[in-house]
Amino acid sequence: MALIVKKFGGSSVATTEKILAVAQRILSEKKSDDKIVVVVSAMGKTTDNLIALAGGIDAQPYKGDYLREMDMLLTTGEQVSIALLAMAFKRLGQPAISLTGAQVGMRTNSVHTKGRILGIKPKRVHDELNKGQVVVVAGFQGADKLGDPVTLGRGGSDTSAVALAGALKADECEIFTDVDGVYSADPRIVKNARKMKEITYSEMLEMARLGAGVMQPRSVEMGQFFNMPIHVRSTFTRELGTIIREDYTVEEKDFEIRGVAHDMKVAKISVLGVPNSPGIAHTIFQSLADANISVDMIVQSIRNIDRDINDIVFTINLTDLPEAKKVIAVASEKINAASVLVEEDMAKVSIVGAGMLGSPGFAARMFGALARADVNIDIISTSEISVSCLVRGSQVADAVNSIHDEFFPDR
Ligand code: ASP
Ligand code: MG
Repeated sequence: MALIVKKFGGSSVATTEKILAVAQRILSEKKSDDKIVVVVSAMGKTTDNLIALAGGIDAQPYKGDYLREMDMLLTTGEQVSIALLAMAFKRLGQPAISLTGAQVGMRTNSVHTKGRILGIKPKRVHDELNKGQVVVVAGFQGADKLGDPVTLGRGGSDTSAVALAGALKADECEIFTDVDGVYSADPRIVKNARKMKEITYSEMLEMARLGAGVMQPRSVEMGQFFNMPIHVRSTFTRELGTIIREDYTVEEKDFEIRGVAHDMKVAKISVLGVPNSPGIAHTIFQSLADANISVDMIVQSIRNIDRDINDIVFTINLTDLPEAKKVIAVASEKINAASVLVEEDMAKVSIVGAGMLGSPGFAARMFGALARADVNIDIISTSEISVSCLVRGSQVADAVNSIHDEFFPDR
């Protein structure tokens, strides 16, 4: 007997035919005494459509007072798919029950639209599994202490699935998606990108954080926290995908870096001409923090030594830009900044790999690859296992291909 958590993303359940196919596939692989929990996302583009619907009420629905209502709205998407999938199981003769995030005991904080899981008490799930039911759970959602629905950020169903697998002490956690694994770069951009058999949590986390869209970064953190291996694989084939785990079990040593990630959803904000004195950076970044906006790359440069004036430049996620603009308008007034510059056509390209720890040659080779592709580097930042460069959005494909060629020459 095994307890298996399987997550199916929006494209895997986009139509009722696909929902029936998912139920069929699960049953065809299920051993008679297996206990199966299925976590699903909303059908196809449902979440995007719901956001657009809210946009009909106010062009900027992601703000202040609206956020609770956005969660009330967005959680309906997953509620549709769990009901239909549970019905599909029943039609195929398999007892099944659909449960919302609140019903599976997924407790979150109250940060609407960007909630974090505080704990899971999945007693109800165990009870239903023990009755022989397949349990179909709404991804992307939990409930706060008031019982109000809270969503976990875009792509949050991955996090729901891994967290639930951890809390249930599942034997396996499989993430079924429209790609067949994790690649050394986005295969839509790099045609000779390689599928990896395995990747460590920290490398995957870094890849995801730096824009690889396969998994929500929080879900990988969750896997690491519970030490729950995550198998990312295709809904449409039976082939094995990529396993995210603590360490490599297979000797896969013929790579120098693990992958090239890119992120197009980047906005750059430059607060120009601010006084070079204590408290200035604090004012800017505290006001962003208060608005729950994460800041990524930060650069401060002394622009004019005589006049003791700085420029502070940073990047944020493009979706936070409307709110950030308002926050920065207020903050820059307070600190007497000369001007604020916003650039939306930016992208971040990064190399990731545990092997680069303490090896300076990797950054130089990356910059060389960018120079060969005639890509200018705007901002550079590094972590222990990555190097990132901010570049023009229009040059991202050239940048990623050139870097990939450098580190993954054709065999
Ligand atoms: N439906 C949500 C979204 O589109 C959550 C998910 O798909 O993981 O972001
Ligand atoms: Mg997803």
